[in-house]
Amino acid sequence: MKERTYITTTLPYVNAEPHIGFAVEIIRADIIARYRRALGEEVFFNTGTDEHGQKIYQKALELGLEPQAYVDQLAEKFKAILKPLGISEDINFVRTTDPAHIASAQAFWRTCDQNGFIYKKNYQTKYCIGCELEKTDSELVNGKCPDHPNLAIELRDEENYFFKFPAFGDKLLALYKERPDFVIPAERQKEIKALVERGLQDFSISRLKTKMPWGIAVPTDPEHVMYVWFDALVNYISVLSWPCLARAESEGGPNDLDNFNHWWLETGGAIQYCGKDNLRQQTAMWQAMLMAAGLSPSKQIVIDGFITSGGQKMSKSLGNVINPLEVVEKYDTDALRYFVAGELAMFEDSDFTWERFHEAYNAKLANGLGNLVSRVMKMAENYLAGPVEITKKEFPADYVKFLSEFEIGKAVDIVWQKISTLDLKIQQTQPFKLIKENKEEAVKIVTELVQGVGEIAKMLEPIMSTTAEKINQAIANNKMPAPLFVRKD
Ligand SMILES: [Zn+2]
Repeated sequence: MKERTYITTTLPYVNAEPHIGFAVEIIRADIIARYRRALGEEVFFNTGTDEHGQKIYQKALELGLEPQAYVDQLAEKFKAILKPLGISEDINFVRTTDPAHIASAQAFWRTCDQNGFIYKKNYQTKYCIGCELEKTDSELVNGKCPDHPNLAIELRDEENYFFKFPAFGDKLLALYKERPDFVIPAERQKEIKALVERGLQDFSISRLKTKMPWGIAVPTDPEHVMYVWFDALVNYISVLSWPCLARAESEGGPNDLDNFNHWWLETGGAIQYCGKDNLRQQTAMWQAMLMAAGLSPSKQIVIDGFITSGGQKMSKSLGNVINPLEVVEKYDTDALRYFVAGELAMFEDSDFTWERFHEAYNAKLANGLGNLVSRVMKMAENYLAGPVEITKKEFPADYVKFLSEFEIGKAVDIVWQKISTLDLKIQQTQPFKLIKENKEEAVKIVTELVQGVGEIAKMLEPIMSTTAEKINQAIANNKMPAPLFVRKD
């Protein structure tokens, strides 16, 4: 049987235009998706947009738009960035306002309710609109959310439905114990384990419709809509058409259950990429929700750090916001993908500035990779009788190891080590001089160099597929290609 991978990004919340953090996350997930496909696996790759909740409702009101009209506009903008970022064309795109997602989220609620994990009570809560999350006192700094110090914490007093989170504390700890690589990197798993060990509290999963109508109706109570997180997290299985009601034999047709079996039960669940601000929601809340519905947990949660610029959080007021589309316009898609894969830290916070980008572009792409391919293919075109057939078709073992651990940066390092090795070989053997004295030996060396360039192209396929294709074409035609990356001033 073919190996299978289900990999997904977080659904970005559409209260703002697509930002660099999302671009980084989806490029990394795409690299893993392409890599697994290159290994011969069957891959289901998912992204989409998270479209309910108070922040979006308020934003739409501010703009004088119906919430649906507002999210329709934003969803198009998120769809439109996939191509410039070089994302796999077969990616699935779910919107949490899709009727199929709504039906699935309501079925999920009913299941958790029937299993006894949802109840109603009166409560007062502290709420950060910026996070769309309730905050406990221990999470506040001077009475403010540390991520949104400019927003006032709201006090809310209302009757809400609650999810019995503490019922899953022991099961979550057992999950972390049994699967030490459930959360990547390991420090984040320690962090969530410590949080669960400190004790969990029930969390609210509904809002009164009279206060905030922009959400999925609670199926058992028309006065409430679902809390946005509770609805959005279900996307990871709604895209597999869970709960997949079996179609009656008399109605014929395939059984939907196959889809969920195929991509969740038989794969061991989704690999979910997310930012570190999603740690609690994805590695604990969502896993407890799955348990409450009687479903198996996700496969792995990969947690990215934040992207800063000049050491600070990007913000309009600081004028340090980097728009991924502008990077693609000024340089190109593969240059952005290289920087995300090879220059930014995988799991720690990492700095993205134009200066750093520009420097890496010239040093690693124009001078490094681009220059090597030009030199080798020029010699190949001049000295060889015809195209070299690349014999090594497997990825190197260390490259495989790093990508299996989501260490994309270390896999990229292997590619650039190979570039250095080939540069050194040219310098030491000087085939362009040798060709006059010992043609046979020069031809042998250039053939080896082309083999090396072919191995580089193979490793670049998941990371920079357009560039890899250009190199493969050059090798197949035994011709020096146009410069892969033009040096920029
Ligand atoms: Zn906040």
